[in-house]
Amino acid sequence: MKPKSGTLFYLTAFLSIVLITHIFMLIHSAVHGVYACTAQNTIGCIIMTTLLMFRKKTNPFLLIFFALFQLELQVFMAIIFMGWELQFQYYYLGIMVFSVLMSFSLESRKLSFRQKFLGLTSTALFFISYGISRHLKPLYQIPEIAVDKIVLINYISTFFGLAFLSNLFRVNAIRFAYLIKKQAFRDELTKLYNRRGIRAELDRAIDTLHAEGIPYSIAILDIDDFKKINDTYGHNMGDIVLKGIGKVLQGYENEITTACRWGGEEFLIIRQNSIYKNSMTDLVQKIASKISQLEFNSDGTKFKVTITGGCAVSEMNSTLNETIGIADSRLYHGKQTGKNRIVSTDE
Ligand code: GH3
Ligand code: MG
Ligand code: MG
Repeated sequence: MKPKSGTLFYLTAFLSIVLITHIFMLIHSAVHGVYACTAQNTIGCIIMTTLLMFRKKTNPFLLIFFALFQLELQVFMAIIFMGWELQFQYYYLGIMVFSVLMSFSLESRKLSFRQKFLGLTSTALFFISYGISRHLKPLYQIPEIAVDKIVLINYISTFFGLAFLSNLFRVNAIRFAYLIKKQAFRDELTKLYNRRGIRAELDRAIDTLHAEGIPYSIAILDIDDFKKINDTYGHNMGDIVLKGIGKVLQGYENEITTACRWGGEEFLIIRQNSIYKNSMTDLVQKIASKISQLEFNSDGTKFKVTITGGCAVSEMNSTLNETIGIADSRLYHGKQTGKNRIVSTDE
C-alpha cells in the first residue's frame, strides 16, 4: 500500500479542530463578558493559525507538540477562569494518554523528550488545576445555559482531536512500514530491485512456465573491466557508472521485463512470455548499445563503458538455477572471447 498525503490531511484536521474550538470559546466568552477568556482564546487562534500556515514546511510532530503544549496552557487558564465543572480537564487526560501511547519517533521504542514532556506537564497541570479549583472559586461565573454548550464542545473537540491525531500516527506508521519494505526490496544505489525484490518476478515466471508451458528468459550482464574504472577514476565514479546503467535498465522495464542488481556490478534481467527465442537477445543488444553510448566525465576526462551479457531461455524441465547457470556460463564465455558482446547460444 502506498500511502498518499494522509499525514497532511490528518494534521490539518487536528490543527483545524483546535482552531475551531478556540474560535468557539472566543465568541462565547465575549458574549458572556468573560473578556480574559476572549483574550486568551485570541492568542490561541493566532498560534493555531500560525501552525496551520507552517504545516507543509515543518516537521508535523513538532507542530503537534506546539499545538498540544499551547493547549495545555490554555486549558489551565480556562479552568482557573471558569472552574472545574466545564470539563476542560478532559484535554489533559487526552494529551496524557496520547503522549504515552503514540510514538513520536517510529525508529525508537523509548518515549521521546517531547512525549515525556507532554505526559508529565499534562499530568502535573491536571492535579495543580484540580487543587486550585477545589480551593478557589473560579474567577468568572458562567451562566447555566452557556455551561452546557462549553461542556459539549469540550467533549466533541477532545474526541475529534484524538481521532485525527491517532489516525495521523496510524498513517505515519503505514508510511514507515512501506518505506522499510521498499528499502528491503530495492538497491539503494541503482534504485533497481535487489535479489530479494526480484524474487516475486522469478516465482511468477516459474509458475507460468509450469502452468502454461510459456518459457521465460534470463540475461546476466556484467560491466567490462569495472575494476579498472574504479582504479582509474575512483570508487565514486564507479558508483555513478552503476547508477547510469541502472537508469538505462529501468527504461526497459515493462509488464514482462524486470531488472535487478544481482551482485556488485552484475545485473539480471528476467523476461516473461519469451515465446520468440530472440526477444531477450534483441532487448539486451539494445540495452548494451545504449549503455555503450553513455558518456561519463571524471574531472574533464571523458570515458565510456561496455557490458558483456549471457542469455538463456528456460526449458520445460529445467530449474531456475539451471537457467541462470546457463546464462552465467555464456556470460563467462563472452568475457573469455573479447567482452563487449551478448552470448545467447552455446558457442
Ligand atoms: P570483467 O570485465 O572481467 O568483469 O572485469 P571486472 O574488473 O569488471 O571484474 P571484477 O569482478 O574483477 O571486478 C568487479 C569490481 O566491481 C570489483 C569491485 O570493487 C567493484 N564493485 C562492486 N560493487 C561495487 C559498487 O557498489 N561500487 C563500486 N564503485 N564498485 C563496485
Ligand atoms: Mg563481475
Ligand atoms: Mg565486470
